[in-house]
Amino acid sequence: MIKTDILIIGGGPTGLFTVFEAGLLKMKCHILDSLAQPGGQCIELYPKKPIYDIPAYPEIIAGDLIKNLLEQIKPFDPSYTLGETALKLDKHDDGSFKVTTDKGTEIQAKIISIAGGLGTFTPRKPNISNITDFEDKGIMYMIKDPSEFNDKIVVIAGGGDSALDWTIHLSKIAKKVILIHRRNEFRGANDSVASVQKLKDLGKIDVITPAQVSKLNGKNKLESIIVEVDGKENQIVTDYFIPLFGLIPKLGPIKDWGLNIENNAIKVNNSLDYQTNIEGIYAIGDVNTYPGKLKLILSGFHEAAVMCHSAYSKLNPGKKNTLKYTTVSGIQGFDGSKKVAKKSQLSKID
Ligand SMILES: Cc1cc2nc3c(=O)[nH]c(=O)nc-3n(C[C@H](O)[C@H](O)[C@H](O)COP(=O)(O)OP(=O)(O)OC[C@H]3O[C@@H](n4cnc5c(N)ncnc54)[C@H](O)[C@@H]3O)c2cc1C
Repeated sequence: MIKTDILIIGGGPTGLFTVFEAGLLKMKCHILDSLAQPGGQCIELYPKKPIYDIPAYPEIIAGDLIKNLLEQIKPFDPSYTLGETALKLDKHDDGSFKVTTDKGTEIQAKIISIAGGLGTFTPRKPNISNITDFEDKGIMYMIKDPSEFNDKIVVIAGGGDSALDWTIHLSKIAKKVILIHRRNEFRGANDSVASVQKLKDLGKIDVITPAQVSKLNGKNKLESIIVEVDGKENQIVTDYFIPLFGLIPKLGPIKDWGLNIENNAIKVNNSLDYQTNIEGIYAIGDVNTYPGKLKLILSGFHEAAVMCHSAYSKLNPGKKNTLKYTTVSGIQGFDGSKKVAKKSQLSKID
């Protein structure tokens, strides 16, 4: 059983910044996300797009924002459970909670911060009759550990950033990578399309377009696929088939936890601390709703700070919590690292 002060459900920008705010108040966090990597919508939906409304960044690429957040929270050393979905909630007599994931992992926490954004992203599956027979036996909808493809034959299908980026990355690891797309044009970022074209020209990967995978064959695991090109069927022997057709967000199992839900979002007390109708459970970022809510990254950051101060009071009853500027207090990480301003950098009124 994993034990922590705050269980953060959702590793998007809101969940990641929560670790920082909690860390300043000496609270430990565990992040649970159904995706294989942190970053939420920024990484899953628009990693290469520039964002223009993050304060003090006139422009920042979504992927870089997440990279910076991960760097910022490093001193507070959060633990992670990735690729698993929060399924079941139990409340213990001492007021703490136990969340069980779809893979059976149990996490106990005194505080839960739901930063679940638009919800769990479920993969859009291609319409192939026997696809479920081969799930985890050669069929994958997301990649957790690229080293698994070392020296293997991998077929990737899709035309967006995910399909292009993984084709480029796995071309360095796998024995052979074949990219299949139903159109001749790809939807991904121009530099990724150019890289895929270059790899194809160098003979490092195969690209088959316009084409579609129509059948899967194998005994105990996937052995080959049938690809339709110009109405003709071709068999390709492969170890893996990875359709990357995008993800559909759904609030998912959290919907059944007894929380007040409105329009697929969790109602919170926004005049105080973004707590839900269940004491000890907060909802912050895109997942919550209240009058005037703006579904923006900066809203999630603000809500994370307010939520952590409220959580501190719950975890430390009777202890006074005064707001300290980081310019004055510095940062003392759980790893022993310290960042403090030099005396000369502080103003006279510090
Ligand atoms: C194309 C696009 C462009 C955008 N541009 C901007 C912009 O310019 N500026 C701006 O401020 N905002 C922008 N946004 C919105 C912004 O991305 C969101 O406001 C932000 O991502 C919300 O962050 P979050 O951490 O609250 O949620 P998310 O980023 O959605 O992260 C939530 C995470 O929770 C996980 N999760 C959910 N339920 C569970 C569960 N049960 N178990 C485990 N994990 C779970 C999900 O897998 C996900 O990783 C844009 C959005 C899109 C789609």
